[in-house]
Amino acid sequence: MLSIIANLWCLIRHYKHSILAIIFEEPIKQVNTNEKVIALTFDDGPKPPYTEQILELLYQNNAKATFFVLGRNVKQYPNVFKKIFLYGNEVGNHTWDHDRLDVKSRSFIEEQIVLTDKIIRDMGYQGNIYFRSPYGSQSYGIQYVLKKMNKKFILYNMSFRDWDNNFWDRPHPVQISKIFEIPSGSIVLLHDGGGDRHSTVELVEVILKKYQSKGYKFITVSELLSYHNQTVGIGF
Ligand SMILES: [Zn+2]
Repeated sequence: MLSIIANLWCLIRHYKHSILAIIFEEPIKQVNTNEKVIALTFDDGPKPPYTEQILELLYQNNAKATFFVLGRNVKQYPNVFKKIFLYGNEVGNHTWDHDRLDVKSRSFIEEQIVLTDKIIRDMGYQGNIYFRSPYGSQSYGIQYVLKKMNKKFILYNMSFRDWDNNFWDRPHPVQISKIFEIPSGSIVLLHDGGGDRHSTVELVEVILKKYQSKGYKFITVSELLSYHNQTVGIGF
């Protein structure tokens, strides 16, 4: 009897990850690929003039990106929002209100996602809508709701202090060195909303020039996922 229980326990431990993956959506931070591809992602928009300035830069450089928008901003700036996908970029869901979700109920989480999906669709966007939680927060509640909704949970492996207005005036050595260290298959977090984002616009220009000169392509998250051998998640 003891050996049966021991074997069962071993089985559960061995398959724990797979069992959890049936119930909870695993966050994706990066894609394992040797191809020279990077997915730039922008959170907290749409917000003029920064979203449009970034769209223009992407367009001039034949690059694509993914914009994780807030429902309330889509409502406030519908024409800026539409430019995102009319320029061929991808749209993601970053909730309606930008609350921290790891302390909220499942019904609250679901409502925030459904409302934001609805306005994105009402505006005429037809592509995939993946999800990124505000503040990159994670919880079983968030992951459970996303699994139920069959929605991918996209986080990131690279982020910058692009929201700091002194990013370029008083550059931090760690931040500057990170610009040179973006690996293939990265999902990079940047911000087009939530405040003065002139530093972000400059950073996008620098990243595009630097990596395109080395043969890198800037693609949407959906395109990046199609490159995966194995996605790298965080897990619990
Ligand atoms: Zn955010």
